[in-house]
Amino acid sequence: MANFSIDAKKEATYDAIVIGSGISGGWAAKELTGKGLRTLVLERGRDVRHVTDYPTTMMNPWEFEHRGQLPLEVRRQNPIISKCYAFYEGTTQFFVKDNEHPYVQEKPFDWIRGYQVGGKSLMWARQTQRWSDFDFEGPARDGFAVDWPVRYKDLAPWYSYVEKFAGISGNKDGLPELPDGEFLPPHEWNCAETYFRDKVASMYKDRHVIMGRAAHITQPNAIHTQQGRAQCQHRTICERGCPFGGYFSSNSSTLPWAAKTGKMTLRANSVVHSIIYDEAKGKATGVRVIDAGTKEMTEFYAKIIFVNAAALNTNLILLNSTSRRFPNSLGNDSGVLGRYVAFHNYRAGVSAEYDGHLESTTEGRRPNSPYIPRFRNVYKQETGFLRGYAAGFNAGRISRSDQSGLGADLKQSLINPRMSGWRVGSHMMGETIPKQSNYVHSEGQQLCCA
Ligand SMILES: Cc1cc2nc3c(=O)[nH]c(=O)nc-3n(C[C@H](O)[C@H](O)[C@H](O)COP(=O)(O)OP(=O)(O)OC[C@H]3O[C@@H](n4cnc5c(N)ncnc54)[C@H](O)[C@@H]3O)c2cc1C
Ligand code: SF4
Repeated sequence: MANFSIDAKKEATYDAIVIGSGISGGWAAKELTGKGLRTLVLERGRDVRHVTDYPTTMMNPWEFEHRGQLPLEVRRQNPIISKCYAFYEGTTQFFVKDNEHPYVQEKPFDWIRGYQVGGKSLMWARQTQRWSDFDFEGPARDGFAVDWPVRYKDLAPWYSYVEKFAGISGNKDGLPELPDGEFLPPHEWNCAETYFRDKVASMYKDRHVIMGRAAHITQPNAIHTQQGRAQCQHRTICERGCPFGGYFSSNSSTLPWAAKTGKMTLRANSVVHSIIYDEAKGKATGVRVIDAGTKEMTEFYAKIIFVNAAALNTNLILLNSTSRRFPNSLGNDSGVLGRYVAFHNYRAGVSAEYDGHLESTTEGRRPNSPYIPRFRNVYKQETGFLRGYAAGFNAGRISRSDQSGLGADLKQSLINPRMSGWRVGSHMMGETIPKQSNYVHSEGQQLCCA
């Protein structure tokens, strides 16, 4: 019996454990297995295999019961995730529904989650801009929040390392506030966008409109074909999962790469409850896992434990990890664990119509858009708020078809829509300053943001 338990413990022991299989967990798995470490990847959600588990990826609009729209009933049941542009009839399978894992919002907080192998790497918008020293130096310059322990030069080689493997498209724009990277060819502009770009350049020295850097393979290199990924086909239905591997996800890239080493064990439906702390060794030695199906608790052990469960769940796992040494949660002697939550602010949007360039239109689609890097408070504090914001921007010709007729007339007007002017739109995103009063805690998964 004693031998049996030693064997069982040996079987449950790995060189490394990675908690979560989203963007960061996939990378951790790739790196650790690449160094020859037997790695256990624990994922709370179901398995999602690349290509075979993208059920809507080849569906045409008319094949959806509601033509891709969310029925009112689904919206009513999911008021939080329905605010997310990427949640629609073709993607519902990847979003955590509001009532599946409810949480208490002391102040409103929209928590968009993807609990599955691949995490949010399946659902993300693939924008991949580098940070610059203006971002890293922010806290040191204005005194709010803790100074970053690294600067751009420390991270630059790692940005390059990741970009080359993931495949990032972009243009080398030479802007100090948004450093260039290892880019595949950039996406194309349309004439209304270049008009706006040139107009901005002629009016402002410090404002730039560039093509967003995005995790799309616009032209595959050998490293991408070795991953089994192909050139992006510009279908712009990425968040359904891409059978071409045209955009970067854990499912298309890092996880299959790690699996190829033969060193990775991927365990789906494994909810990590907490980290095991060994009082005698003074170290974390493993994790407690609840099987999502049977609710049975199992333990796994490793010398290296990477917690990659996304920002809030990583905090919640650590908050759940109490021991005699850490009655207030693992490593939480300071009491700040779960506090200083700082998500990026993604609120303001503007749109307008432009009636120039009426002789031109666009053809095809583009899974990316131009981008206006931060220009506020870059070289000096010039506003009443700290730090800055960036903006996405795009322009497209508006087409309207008369849907009033019937039969052949209706068909003709649908096939030949009337073109009106250009619709231009922009949305802002900004940094939020970490505050102690913004917190998450695990009792009933409560969230509070001031
Ligand atoms: C609609 C949308 C658009 C976005 N667009 C962009 C963008 O353009 N650019 C950008 O940089 N970022 C974007 N993001 C954010 C980006 O997706 C996340 O920052 C990124 O996925 C975080 O990676 P992660 O590995 O930390 O977490 P995730 O990718 O969320 O992965 C975490 C994983 O951990 C698992 N997990 C959680 N708890 C446990 C547990 N207890 N036990 C086991 N497993 C657990 C989850 O199921 C999940 O699979 C977007 C996000 C959304 C929702
Ligand atoms: S736009 Fe590119 S990445 Fe997105 S689904 Fe189409 S081929 Fe895939």
